[in-house]
Amino acid sequence: MIQRTFVALKPDAVQRGVMGEIISRFEKAGVKIIGMKMIWVDKEMSQKHYKAHVEKPFYPGLEKMITEGPVVGMVIEGVNSVELVRKLVGGTEPKGAAPGTIRGDFAHISYAYADEQNKAVKNLIHASGNKEEADYEVNLWFSNEELHSYKTVHEMHVF
Ligand code: ATP
Ligand code: MG
Repeated sequence: MIQRTFVALKPDAVQRGVMGEIISRFEKAGVKIIGMKMIWVDKEMSQKHYKAHVEKPFYPGLEKMITEGPVVGMVIEGVNSVELVRKLVGGTEPKGAAPGTIRGDFAHISYAYADEQNKAVKNLIHASGNKEEADYEVNLWFSNEELHSYKTVHEMHVF
């Protein structure tokens, strides 16, 4: 039941200075951050990370957005963490993302607006969509030596 999932704070989250506020939401939920680093994603890495989207019409805008500044990659461990993190992140389109979620609280734009502006949807954060994606992304972004094993207070009081 304990899973690992991959999260990236996208360039818009880094540039807006809301990294801490976003990370604290995961800390409050009691999951464990077992790896974290800042990386400037290049085109090759973007194509590997978003391999499911490379052929889609929105991919050029997505690549431009994810490579425009550094991102913060994290591996998060917890009970059913893939599903939990997606719940905290909220829906892909900020316009429809529920209040209380990261995308719902920190953004509001629509696909229609982004398309009209010929821009990608800036939605602050990426999170693995399922267990298979999580395994692929954790492996793509982090080596085993970069993932740490330690105890948190949550293991006594939350788990
Ligand atoms: P992410 O993979 O970044 O966590 P997601 O899993 O919620 O987001 P995906 O369907 O995997 O959504 O899309 C990846 C990213 O591509 C989205 O976060 C968004 O920035 C962009 N995107 C997805 N669909 C569209 C679209 N129809 N128009 C414009 N951009 C889109
Ligand atoms: Mg996705």
